[in-house]
Amino acid sequence: MVNTTVTKDLESEVNGIIAGVQAFIESEVLPLEERFRATLADERRLFRDDGRLVDEIDEARRMIRRKSADAGFYAMFAPKEIGGGGLPSTAIVSVLEAVYRRYGPGRLLIGWANGFLTSPLISSFIDGASYMFLNASEGIRQQVVPSLLAGEKTICFALTEPDAGSDVWGLKCKARRDGDDWLISGTKQWITNAPYADYAVVFAVTDPDLLAKHKGGITCFLVDAATPGYAVDNVLPVMGHVSSDCGTIALEDVRVPNDRILGTVDEGFRVGMLGISEGRLSIAAGCLGMAEWALDRCLEYVKERKTFGVALSEHQMIQVMLADTAIDIFTTKQTVRRTAELLDEAPTTGRLPVKEISIAKAYSVEAAQRVMDRAIQIHGANGLSSELQFQEGFRIARTLRIPDGTSEIQRRTIARQLLRGDVAF
Ligand SMILES: Cc1cc2nc3c(=O)[nH]c(=O)nc-3n(C[C@H](O)[C@H](O)[C@H](O)COP(=O)(O)OP(=O)(O)OC[C@H]3O[C@@H](n4cnc5c(N)ncnc54)[C@H](O)[C@@H]3O)c2cc1C
Repeated sequence: MVNTTVTKDLESEVNGIIAGVQAFIESEVLPLEERFRATLADERRLFRDDGRLVDEIDEARRMIRRKSADAGFYAMFAPKEIGGGGLPSTAIVSVLEAVYRRYGPGRLLIGWANGFLTSPLISSFIDGASYMFLNASEGIRQQVVPSLLAGEKTICFALTEPDAGSDVWGLKCKARRDGDDWLISGTKQWITNAPYADYAVVFAVTDPDLLAKHKGGITCFLVDAATPGYAVDNVLPVMGHVSSDCGTIALEDVRVPNDRILGTVDEGFRVGMLGISEGRLSIAAGCLGMAEWALDRCLEYVKERKTFGVALSEHQMIQVMLADTAIDIFTTKQTVRRTAELLDEAPTTGRLPVKEISIAKAYSVEAAQRVMDRAIQIHGANGLSSELQFQEGFRIARTLRIPDGTSEIQRRTIARQLLRGDVAF
């Protein structure tokens, strides 16, 4: 496992991790991408009729996961207390930025492509062990967490429902007591990794009165996907793709033992927010890396491509687009870095940077979308081709304005924090 104490040497330690991840990608992932190039490039060959990945690609992703775990990368963002690498947020954002800057969007076997938001390289709260599992029972820690850390099993994070997305107080999925167990019934929709997950972290209403008062009433259960009554009915196409890794889960009287609860009964949403906060900052860091990747490509292209007898770089309107992209990137970078620092300092300061996490998420995805849009424009028709991957970057950035809290919900959170007196910047 990667050694990850916060020291003065953190920067060189992080650089070592980044170099290690890159070496892993070059030796283990890129050869697989090359081997499956034809399948990866054609979604009609990539997905089965039911929307799931064809076996060879599914197996390739599983293999990368296991090898990444063996190499100490897969669970490096998970907390030390449960056996993860415990990387601080400042390191996490640096690693994600570096990976996406180097490899860009549209890389299914690295992460973020074809409507896929999960990465087989490094687990996060939507597919593996995370800070949410600090609240897990001893049973979960012993029986489930090791297989997550090893990349042998995965989870999905099942909060959203057909009638409840931004508004968690509208949840309808219910859990009722049955002896020592619980029986869960309801529907979860838009759940990333649901088609492949071995376990689902399911948020269900256990006290409708508390829920109605917005005071709790939601419990977080770890559900084994093999339990009778649990089914992933369909896989959802996302943003111009034939399919994605999002699915719908139907739960019908699914029996869950009482020790399969994360946190305490009726207080599950707090546990969920630990995951969602982690996800928001990771999305922001990934978008930063993708935006830098796009600018790097643009800077090469504008020097090569000529129109009206001069390089594109000579045209002032092209320069404006480059400058606007730099403004977006620099602002995103400072926001992401500072937010990560505040998060790392939170155990000492006692101040969770709620407002800043929302600022980072909203700003980074919107900036990445602007950057990808300009990159397409700068590259002309080539910018729209699948080969250059800007269109995929655009679709990813556009898609990311919805999950882990929409841009509107981030602004709602920011405004609420301001009005509560959180005006520190
Ligand atoms: C690719 C993808 C992956 C996802 N993965 C997961 C996952 O793994 N697990 C999971 O549980 N969910 C997941 N989701 C679901 C996602 O979290 C929800 O889609 C999101 O929270 C928004 O909910 P909604 O779609 O129901 O929109 P709604 O909540 O119905 O919102 C509709 C619109 O109204 C706006 N709006 C809502 N309330 C307000 C308000 N108070 N003020 C102003 N505007 C408002 C929203 O911003 C949005 O523009 C995923 C979604 C996508 C697209």
